[in-house]
Amino acid sequence: MYVRKHRGWLAPSIKNKIHRHLKTIKDIHKILPVSKIIIETAAFDIQKIKNPDISGTEYQQGEQLNFWNVREYVLFRDDHKCHGKKNCTGTILNVHHIESRKTGGNAPNNLITLCKDCHNAYHDGRLKLDIRRGQSFRDEAFMGIMRWAVYNQLKEIYPNVSMTYGYITKNTRIRNGLENTRCIDARCITGHPMVKSLGYYYNQKAVRRHNRQIHKATINRGGYRKLNQAPKYVFGFQLFDKVLLGDSYGFIFGRRIVEAI
Ligand SMILES: [Zn+2]
Ligand SMILES: [Zn+2]
Repeated sequence: MYVRKHRGWLAPSIKNKIHRHLKTIKDIHKILPVSKIIIETAAFDIQKIKNPDISGTEYQQGEQLNFWNVREYVLFRDDHKCHGKKNCTGTILNVHHIESRKTGGNAPNNLITLCKDCHNAYHDGRLKLDIRRGQSFRDEAFMGIMRWAVYNQLKEIYPNVSMTYGYITKNTRIRNGLENTRCIDARCITGHPMVKSLGYYYNQKAVRRHNRQIHKATINRGGYRKLNQAPKYVFGFQLFDKVLLGDSYGFIFGRRIVEAI
């Protein structure tokens, strides 16, 4: 298999994103007993589309699932927009075979994204398609770099890391008649879509590190501007403490010090 290794220079923005992914995974290890990591960062496997004859265990999957991969790629290539009637804004998208599946096959250049209405209109003979075949491949370049960098770095840190793709997740979800939510997709990624949920989930929220105060305009005698920060503790509380108020829980998201003048 052709694997790009990005050990060299990466744009700071990409490095940053990679770092954030790794940090999130590290944080999850602090609260949950993680024994296996499966990451899904791309909707489809471009290598597999480019080299359909590729062999290897991870490539031995049914024709049906292969089509799901190509389908996700075609949706991406067509910008998740209908290519039927001009400037169509239909949102329920189908992937249409330009020549029948039997004669034209499932290669991307035989497929085009149409909305449900345009698709029906075409098959009813009410719409003509202006199709140029032989569209070139459009690489999912950015996600490609991210995917390999995150994956390779994770493998260096953790013992049990593998990768999956969005089309597999989607196929698992739909095959099992499950709803499209993030939590359910996470279960589908693990390969145990029907596992019983605990009924709650963890939500990670990015919060600021410093205790900024809103009012900083006052300039003290001597020209000193007041510190742009509240002290760490106010009335014994610090930012993001979990507090019980009445009979519900909340978090401290801001403090205000009232000064007596
Ligand atoms: Zn069709
Ligand atoms: Zn349309």
